[in-house]
Amino acid sequence: MDEERFKGIVRETNGPQETSELAFWLGQQAQAGQIYCLDGELGAGKTVFAQGFAAGLGVDEPVNSPTFTIIQQYEKGRLPLYHFDVYRLGSVEEMDEIGYEDYFYGEGVCLVEWSGLIEELLPEDAIQIQIEKNPDKGFDYRKITLYSRQFSGVDRRKE
Ligand code: ADP
Ligand code: MG
Repeated sequence: MDEERFKGIVRETNGPQETSELAFWLGQQAQAGQIYCLDGELGAGKTVFAQGFAAGLGVDEPVNSPTFTIIQQYEKGRLPLYHFDVYRLGSVEEMDEIGYEDYFYGEGVCLVEWSGLIEELLPEDAIQIQIEKNPDKGFDYRKITLYSRQFSGVDRRKE
């Protein structure tokens, strides 16, 4: 495994537009069955990313954080998009009630905000996207790291 892959791909953005463009590009290449895990503190830009991603996938409806519904489906893009925000999930068991497996192992693309909260449900081949702020680099600075959970060797449970 090469070193770059191990570390993941890092992109730095300086404003929501740049994050949105990166996400748009990823949305354009997303494939059926993929799960994109979005993590980062409140206000990091997970929803900004989700909106850009959805646009790249061809979703023309407005995309907001599905905080109170846990999942929001968009069927009009190139592929179905299942947007989860599991921040307010009471317990991991609630994911079963929602029927998450139909989405995770279905023919659409999943985006999961706060995926760290449902770590044990995530398949090995999910794609991890970490968004980090750095106050020293300015209010609009974000470091976005993409990596395959399968190849990273990172045990995220220790974070
Ligand atoms: P989250 O879903 O992670 O809680 P949001 O996407 O809802 O966060 O909000 C991110 C906020 O940060 C937005 O108000 C956005 O305009 C702002 N922002 C500033 N700089 C960036 C950047 N580089 N990337 C993404 N969002 C940014
Ligand atoms: Mg959000």
